[in-house]
Amino acid sequence: MFDAPVARCIICPRQLLDHETGRYLCTLCEQRIDRDLAALAGPAGLYARLCLRIQPGCRGDGPAVSGTPGRELPGGEPLNLTANGGIVSDLETWVRDWATYGLATIGTGGRLQHRIDQAVATLRLNLPRAVYRHPALDDFGKEITQARARAEAIINGEQEPRRIAVQCGCGAVSKVTLDTDGFTCRGCRTEYGHTEALSLPMAARAAA
Ligand SMILES: [Zn+2]
Ligand SMILES: [Zn+2]
Repeated sequence: MFDAPVARCIICPRQLLDHETGRYLCTLCEQRIDRDLAALAGPAGLYARLCLRIQPGCRGDGPAVSGTPGRELPGGEPLNLTANGGIVSDLETWVRDWATYGLATIGTGGRLQHRIDQAVATLRLNLPRAVYRHPALDDFGKEITQARARAEAIINGEQEPRRIAVQCGCGAVSKVTLDTDGFTCRGCRTEYGHTEALSLPMAARAAA
């Protein structure tokens, strides 16, 4: 039994090193979130490419495509991701949340791409301070990673990130992706980190 609780990253959950004292996240998770955020923004970022994939003229700098009402790909996912309520509002919700901690500047609005870029810029700028001050960075990190993974999957023409079915000791089966940050078992509420999740026994195919 340990007397002193060990400080761990709330995402991965690696044990925090001495120079990471006081942080909610380890340095590696901070860097990954920063990379995921950066990947979403900018003229060559995932959001812009997702937009192009749905509607080649949607940024106003390409030829209008006539006679192609089928902007919505099967499943409707890309449009949901790029529309006003998609990635943009997910990011802006976090910006408003971080602003209550003095950790973000709320954007000035404008075109969707501009709003994405503004949100990403203020979140990246403040991430190094947020790792010490924002207790919900695990939820934030998961959402950002998922947004990146979904966008990449669509751009790369994949249907969905491949999932594997793993079985908790309590018997409940959960489906996780190979890049999972972990999950909470629906059966017994045990929390698994990335490594622990992928170390669980795979469920029988029939149960998957
Ligand atoms: Zn970590
Ligand atoms: Zn369980």
